[in-house]
Amino acid sequence: MQNAQQKPKPFQRAVVIGASIAGIMGARVLSDYFQQVILLDRDEHGQRPQPRKGTPQSHHIHVLLRAGQDIIEEFFPGCLQEIEASGGARIDAHHDFVWHHFGVWKTRFESEAVMYLFTRPLLEYTLFERLRQISNIEIRERTSVAGFLSSDGGRHITGVRLSDGESLQADLVLDASGRGSRTVAWLEELGYDRPPLEETGVDLAYVSRLYRRPATDAVPRDWRFLLHYPHSPHTWKSGFVMDVEEDRWIVSLNGYFKDHPPLDHNGFVDFARDLTRPDLHSMITAAEPLTDAIKFTIPRNSWRHFEKMGRFPSGLILIGDAVCALNPIFGQGMSVAAKEALVLHRLLLQCARRNSLAGLEHRARKQMARVIGLPWFLTICLDLHYPQTSGKKPLGHGFLMWYISRLMELSSSSPYVYGEFFKVLMLKNGLWTILKPTVSLRVLAYGVMSFLVPLARRANTDTLPAPAR
Ligand SMILES: Cc1cc2nc3c(=O)[nH]c(=O)nc-3n(C[C@H](O)[C@H](O)[C@H](O)COP(=O)(O)OP(=O)(O)OC[C@H]3O[C@@H](n4cnc5c(N)ncnc54)[C@H](O)[C@@H]3O)c2cc1C
Repeated sequence: MQNAQQKPKPFQRAVVIGASIAGIMGARVLSDYFQQVILLDRDEHGQRPQPRKGTPQSHHIHVLLRAGQDIIEEFFPGCLQEIEASGGARIDAHHDFVWHHFGVWKTRFESEAVMYLFTRPLLEYTLFERLRQISNIEIRERTSVAGFLSSDGGRHITGVRLSDGESLQADLVLDASGRGSRTVAWLEELGYDRPPLEETGVDLAYVSRLYRRPATDAVPRDWRFLLHYPHSPHTWKSGFVMDVEEDRWIVSLNGYFKDHPPLDHNGFVDFARDLTRPDLHSMITAAEPLTDAIKFTIPRNSWRHFEKMGRFPSGLILIGDAVCALNPIFGQGMSVAAKEALVLHRLLLQCARRNSLAGLEHRARKQMARVIGLPWFLTICLDLHYPQTSGKKPLGHGFLMWYISRLMELSSSSPYVYGEFFKVLMLKNGLWTILKPTVSLRVLAYGVMSFLVPLARRANTDTLPAPAR
């Protein structure tokens, strides 16, 4: 990355719509290849980390998976240390992070797997401040994009039209404007078809609030981050609590199928009582809330398959939630955006060698779809375990869910199997990691046992585990 930054920049101007995680990552990549990058956002980024109107999800817990963490660190070296210095926590992901899912606690042990805990506004603020220091990036806040400029009967996107009427010409437009992206409508105005849309309906909602972390815990704890996931298909409520900066906890509760956490204090606490384990409920009963509860509704997973469009204009690339907005309970969105930014970097490196952007948008659509494939597959497989979820099940879904259920249960006692599975969940490794013989033979043997031995006798269903050494 450093080398590319120092070389002369072969292309002239890129415009990025949206300065959230995908837009920030995209602008950082483009700044290595374009003489000028203009980053536009209709919002204003504050002078300190705080949620903003354009990213209402900032009120909710955000987990950065290992894949995203590594890429962010590659493009913004030292930023995770900076986040730690601002009060974020650096933890051992197998020791300080505890979770109960599919009815069992995952095993705990000391490891080299690092995870960072912080509020989403702290991450965005830290990255955005870094962008401000890059001389060829011009940031324009309170600037809304209202459409594309095009030439040759819409065949080439040549820039954007702002809502105040100004036109900005560009060699490349990167749409990182999130779930509400208007690209599909703007392309339709230019005569393009809509991209095929894939959806699975979950009717999920998050409700979150910040708490003061008590000086002495009501419930003794030796961990920093706790997840109570449901036991699908029987239950569908989750609760998460994470240590974040300024000695606070962020607590997020969520429920599928319109069974949503209430916003009032008593209702919020009562909802936590219904989680599969009592730990989170005990913690918040005694703790002091610092903010009101705030809701975000996620009706569905949706993937706009731009890569399947027969006709697509040159000069336009989409990234982040503008392409695929996932049910966030597996914490993938920011890491997917980071992986897409890495794809863009690799493609631009090739373009720079050829001194031409020709074909870039075509390759980007195809390669970014490959990045989305795994997180999409994992999320919809787990969501479709519920008969209430609408959408098409992938082939072999029944067996796959049997396999994943056993994998989850075996992760309660086998550090090896859990460690391998974790690499897939962190989007570092592909599915082969959990299908290879060293894992699958263990899972299949465990599966045979599962027919004979009840869950409570073959996995830790109840007691929050002490770390193995
Ligand atoms: C409740 C919830 C919890 C989540 N938890 C996690 C998690 O744990 N881990 C994780 O990795 N991800 C999580 N996500 C997903 C994550 O927030 C997104 O995937 C991530 O922010 C990338 O989104 P984005 O940058 O593509 O779009 P967004 O974050 O939605 O940002 C879009 C930006 O575009 C701007 N914009 C929009 N339209 C225009 C326009 N016309 N002109 C100018 N600017 C415009 C907006 O102001 C905004 O800044 C969660 C999401 C939700 C809803």
